[in-house]
Amino acid sequence: YSGRSPNRVVAEKLCSVKVGTIISIPAVVTENCSVYDAVVAMFIKDVGTLFVVKEVGLLEGVLSRKDLLKTTLGGHDIHQLPVGVIMTRMPNVIYTTSDETVWSAAKKLITHQVDALPVVRSATQADGGEGLEVIGRLSKTNITRLFVELGEGQ
Ligand code: ADP
Repeated sequence: YSGRSPNRVVAEKLCSVKVGTIISIPAVVTENCSVYDAVVAMFIKDVGTLFVVKEVGLLEGVLSRKDLLKTTLGGHDIHQLPVGVIMTRMPNVIYTTSDETVWSAAKKLITHQVDALPVVRSATQADGGEGLEVIGRLSKTNITRLFVELGEGQ
């Protein structure tokens, strides 16, 4: 590799790969979904993080495994309690976009100590306001898969 150090090669690779090329399909629920139904959705869709969206797909919040576990242990009626009450809500949701580098998005996962980021693009709502449409999911698994692929290329 023309005199470049291995570290340099890996760094260049990680900074050239864009989030959009390694993301997964997002698993979403709406704000009025019960905690019980969200737990079922997490099992059926086999994900660790659910994104909460408005009917039109605009990002409203995030639900992690522990958010749901905590609520389930808390003695609430999880059939009645809507996830909107317990989710991490915008504007506190950390997100990424398709054209962000994988390196930069991975740094967000580490810095904010979360397992997954919604991948969004800006969208204009019916009322003319701007929102963030959820188009994908970037999790630690996507990063690990890329890491393994890079290793196999050696
Ligand atoms: P767990 O809670 O199962 O360990 P996480 O570490 O991903 O999973 O989530 C920790 C907390 O951060 C949870 O309360 C969750 O709602 C919140 N969270 C998860 N993902 C995000 C995100 N992308 N942006 C902001 N908060 C998040």
